[in-house]
Amino acid sequence: MSDGILRSAPSDRTLEACLEPYLQKDDVLASAARTVLALAEAAANISALIALGPLAGSLGAITGDTNADGDEQKELDVQANDIILAALSGTSARYFASEEEDTILTLNADGDLALAVDPLDGSSNIDANVSIGTIFSVLPASGEGASASFFRPGRDQLAAGYVIYGPHCALVLTLGSGVDLFVLDPTSRRFIKARTGLIIPANTREYAINASNYRYWDDAVRLFIDDCIAGMEGPRERDFNMRWVASLVAETHRIFSRGGVFLYPADRRPDYQSGRLRLLYEAAPIAFLAKQAGGAATDGVMPILDKAPTGMHERTPLIFGSSEKVSRITSYHLQPPFEQSAPPLFDQRGLFRS
Ligand code: MN
Ligand code: MN
Repeated sequence: MSDGILRSAPSDRTLEACLEPYLQKDDVLASAARTVLALAEAAANISALIALGPLAGSLGAITGDTNADGDEQKELDVQANDIILAALSGTSARYFASEEEDTILTLNADGDLALAVDPLDGSSNIDANVSIGTIFSVLPASGEGASASFFRPGRDQLAAGYVIYGPHCALVLTLGSGVDLFVLDPTSRRFIKARTGLIIPANTREYAINASNYRYWDDAVRLFIDDCIAGMEGPRERDFNMRWVASLVAETHRIFSRGGVFLYPADRRPDYQSGRLRLLYEAAPIAFLAKQAGGAATDGVMPILDKAPTGMHERTPLIFGSSEKVSRITSYHLQPPFEQSAPPLFDQRGLFRS
């Protein structure tokens, strides 16, 4: 079956062929394209390991260590990090920042790139056989060193992408001019382009949030969700569906497929005042992809791509998806209708009717 598909897939649709225009140049984007090929090779290896599930041993077992951010490390977190590090040998990656490393590593001292990765996103879902992924961000290495290479606004990214290990394994990639989707053919171990120029659909009725934290949210997030839940009878005058996979790549892939909005806001719990997700290797690359696909990403007030991390594992609230929904949530934060006194409340909220 897959042979038939591959025979009909022109060789000019392989990832390598699609990156050829970049590879031929002699600039930092050529380095980025070569590094993406190395990451794709690593992803094919990680995908094969994940596909074995329990046959590969206890991938979901905790190693007994915590990563730098205090998360329990799973066996697969560590293996995925090792597979990526091995694949990067000989590439232009000078600096390497990973969720699974305590410090920035220097790989190739002559390289011109800084690479930030979440080797295995959603690792709490491994044993449940729910989609998990790898997220990566490619920045130019700064002459001023490792920190200056990473601690800059996300809009400086050269490339960003994620791999989702789901019913099929897919790579969603941008090198700063649109977003393309590649699917791994497990037989040939090649990524083949399946869609060009992904656009996040603008009009959708889905939102994703962990609603069990409702009591900790700020008023703007509560109001947005209240309005969605109120459906036809509320100010939005339409019904919505809620989704929550608790795997960032799975949420992202759904939003790239059919739109909607994802929220992991800050909340009032002691460790969540900047949310849960990491700016450098989760929020920034996803924001770069979202922007390239006509969507948007914010921390509630500021565009994610304007934020420069000051630490490798710094957290940020993350709200991204269809641009209309993201700007609505931003407006709820910037011009909060609930700060008005009681009588004008409903008049004010009328401003937000679509
Ligand atoms: Mn993650
Ligand atoms: Mn991870």
